[in-house]
This record gives sequence, structure tokens and C-alpha cells, in this order.
Amino acid sequence: KVRVRFAPSPTGPLHIGGVRTALFNYLFAKKNEGDFIVRIEDTDQTRYVKGAEDYIVETLNWCNIPFDEGPGKPGDVGPYRQSERKDLYAKYADKLLESGNAYYAFDTAEELTTHRKNHEAKGKTFIYNWHNRLKLSNSLALSKEEVQKKLADKEPYVIRFKSPENEALKMYDEIRGEIDIDTNILDDKVLFKSDGMPTYHLANIVDDHLMKISHVIRGEEWLPSMPLHVLLYKAFGWETPKFAHLPLILKPTGKGKLSKRDGDKMGFPVFPLEWKDPNSGDIASGYREEGYLPEAVMNMLAFLGWNEGEGSEKEIYSLDELIEAFSLEHVSKGGAKFDPEKTKWFQHHYLQTRSDFELASQYQLILKEKGIEASSHYVEEVIKTIKERATFVNDFWELSSFYFVKPTTFDEKAAKKAWKEGTSEIMENIKVLLEGTEDFSQETLQENIKKWITDQEIGFGKVMQPLRLTMVGEMKGPDLFHIISSIGKKEAIKRIDFAIE
Ligand code: GLU
Repeated sequence: KVRVRFAPSPTGPLHIGGVRTALFNYLFAKKNEGDFIVRIEDTDQTRYVKGAEDYIVETLNWCNIPFDEGPGKPGDVGPYRQSERKDLYAKYADKLLESGNAYYAFDTAEELTTHRKNHEAKGKTFIYNWHNRLKLSNSLALSKEEVQKKLADKEPYVIRFKSPENEALKMYDEIRGEIDIDTNILDDKVLFKSDGMPTYHLANIVDDHLMKISHVIRGEEWLPSMPLHVLLYKAFGWETPKFAHLPLILKPTGKGKLSKRDGDKMGFPVFPLEWKDPNSGDIASGYREEGYLPEAVMNMLAFLGWNEGEGSEKEIYSLDELIEAFSLEHVSKGGAKFDPEKTKWFQHHYLQTRSDFELASQYQLILKEKGIEASSHYVEEVIKTIKERATFVNDFWELSSFYFVKPTTFDEKAAKKAWKEGTSEIMENIKVLLEGTEDFSQETLQENIKKWITDQEIGFGKVMQPLRLTMVGEMKGPDLFHIISSIGKKEAIKRIDFAIE
């Protein structure tokens, strides 16, 4: 059975790259009728950030990619928080010690720093590995008695993996294909610390095994860890899951990896939800708070490294359609450029799919804040005429304020062009015309005003431009007759009076 997991560390807010990893795991699971599991990797207590786990769960909820098992959603292989599984890992570290795949290392931090410095002085990098492990302070280099004594004396230690020497390791990545490496380039990574906590590598492998994970789908930044992980499975004698490393997400310029800090610098969110840093109090903006719909964000993320294949021009995909179309074969190796403008394009599309009723009720909240009371019917009518030009609900006011309040200022440049000698008289005449119009519908208004203009033999622009300025305050907005009809006779006349003054 397909079982995949999203395994974030709660070290801060999830950024858009993390959400993409979660999405691809979700799509792959659902496509293959498998399970999507969330595991919180919180063994490193020094990097733990309060609120980060809640943020992750809230994000997945907002994105509509629910998990089948995870924190707060028990399953057969829980708990799903590594801090709640911590008693389990020591046993596995011991197994590796027994089988000779790991060893105790007693080198102090100072000693390691000295080694590092000595190497640097010679222009080399210090790597704890096959090459020098016998010259260092560990159970491979010391006698049994010495080791026993150190352990009995409670000397601090770590348990390191004993990377095999001179092995040509063949690995397979579902996206990258075959990857061969020489194990001599590997270092002996720390798996377990004397404080009783496993490192990421050990906990990750043990949990993936115990949680029966079939596919490890994660970001490219974990590719360098793959050899160690494959070797660990071998050392335990466990079946290795399949691996798929998703391509990097690049800055909009294409130069370099998109970082958490790019959002502020470049003026777009890199987080799904707003994040308030518990230490600094700094607030980073999120897609949700900026008014994006989750469908738009998901659709955008799906294309960061995936497409349905050559020849497919389809761009709009619902989550269900994504599940249907998704496959790892169509995930690319090359970095995927993040495109904030394209995200807006998706957002514009998805806003149009929302009903006028729903949008009206959201707009009502904004209007209320401005102290404006309007019937939902009226607001819906307004939305119908402006929706096409809006990307966010927050654009509505800018596009339609004149349906609710009279303009208080007039665009200077437009006024210069539109308001000439004689315009005030024309407006007086239009006012009289409006006063005499019984049926104030868009059609009748259009007919009457156009007829009057034709009868007077004056240019259309001479009337329509100042009239728009009068009603809207600038040269924008939908059909003028729709505006006049909507605001009604009394308000229209008031606006003319105000403009003439
Ligand atoms: N805890 C790791 C992270 O924060 C998980 C990496 C993996 O998926 O193996 O990304």
C-alpha cells in the first residue's frame, strides 16, 4: 500500500516550499489510494519554536489537504510526534552498535574544533570518516576496557554511523533516476546523543520504517542525506522505501533558491499563513491574510516542478483534477521558478468562480467597517459589474466605492480635460433631464441621455466625460448608466450639484 509522509520540523513557519512538499505527497497518496501521514520531527529541542506545529496543521487545513494520520489524528503507528516517541530510538541505536554498523565516539567539542582548525590550516576540511576514525577517540580506536570505563564514568558520547569503506553505492530516485556514489566521500554522521535523543537521521529512518512508509517524497535539500539513509536501511536489514526528491524552488529571477527572507525583500508572501514570530514579535504576511484563495495557491504550487506532460496546455486544476493527473514521472529535476505574478493570475481566475452571493457577503463586511449599509441585493448587483476586474475581495472598494459614496475629490488631470467652458450648463441640463426621468433604469437613462445629446448636436464626449467625472470622480468604472441607475435619482442629482459648485 502507498503510504507517504510529510515530516516537518517545527522550527518556524512552514514556507511555500514546505507546502509544495505536503501537496505533492498528498496528491501522490490520493492518486494511489494510499495514506498521507504527517509526522512532526521535533527531536531537536534547541530549534523548537512555539506555535510552529499548530501553524503547520492550520496550513494543511486551509489548503484543503487533510492528512489521514498525524498529530490529533490517531492511527495504528502513532504517536506522530517524535518527542513522544523518544524512548523508542535508543534500542535501534543499540542494534547498530551490536551489528558493528555504529560506534561510540567520545571526542569533545574542543577536540573536534582543534581537528577542524588543524585541517583548515593545511587547506583541507576535516571529515570524520573511514580515513581517520581510528585516530580519533571512539570505540573503534579504543580497547573494550577503555570504552567500558568511559561509559561507566558517564563521559559524554555520541553514536556515529560507520560508513562503509570503498563501496560503490547504487541508489535510485524516482525523479532523478540512478545515482551512484562512492561511500568513501561520506562522513560518519551522528545518530544518537548521550542526552538520549536521536538525531534527525536515525529518528527519520526508524519512523519511516515503523510507519510503513512506501515512498519518501521530499525537497532536494535532502538529497545529500540519501546515501546515509539508504545505508541505514541496509544496516537494519529493512526494505528501503522509494525516494523522490522534488526540485528546488527558485527566486522569481531564477537566480538561487527562494528563501524565507525573499518575501519581504520582493514584496510577496512566502508563507501560506501570516506568522508572528514568538520571540521577535515580527509579523510575516501570508497568502491567506493577503486574500488569496487556497485553490489559487494550490494550483500555483502544483506547477512548481510538475506539469501534466508535453502538449498539455491546461493550467487550471482543481485539487481533484490534480490528484487525477499527478504522477512522479512528470516531476522535473530542474529548479522551478517561483512566479508571484502567475499566482495572482490563478487568484483572479478562482475569485471569478465564487458566487456573487458569497463575494457580496464578504464585501458587506468591508462596507460595514466603513459605516456603509447596503442591501445584499444591491451589493450583489455591484459585484456583478466589477468582479471581472478584481483579483481580491479587497479590490472591490477601489473598483466600486462610487456605488456607495459620492466622490469627494476629482481627478485633476481628467477634470482639466473634461470640464470646459459650458460644461456646467450642460450638467444643469442633464440634471433637469434626470429629474424628469420616471423610469430610472439603465436602458431608459441611456436612451434619454443619448437622445438629448443627439438633439443638442454636441459631441458625446463633451457630456459623457464630465458626467462620469461627476459620478465617479475619475475616468474609470463600468457603464455610466448602470452607475446612475444604481445610485438612484436623488443621489445622482446631489452629485451633479456637488460637481457644479
Ligand atoms: N524533518 C525534515 C524536514 O524538516 C524532514 C525531511 C524528510 O522528509 O526526510 O524537512
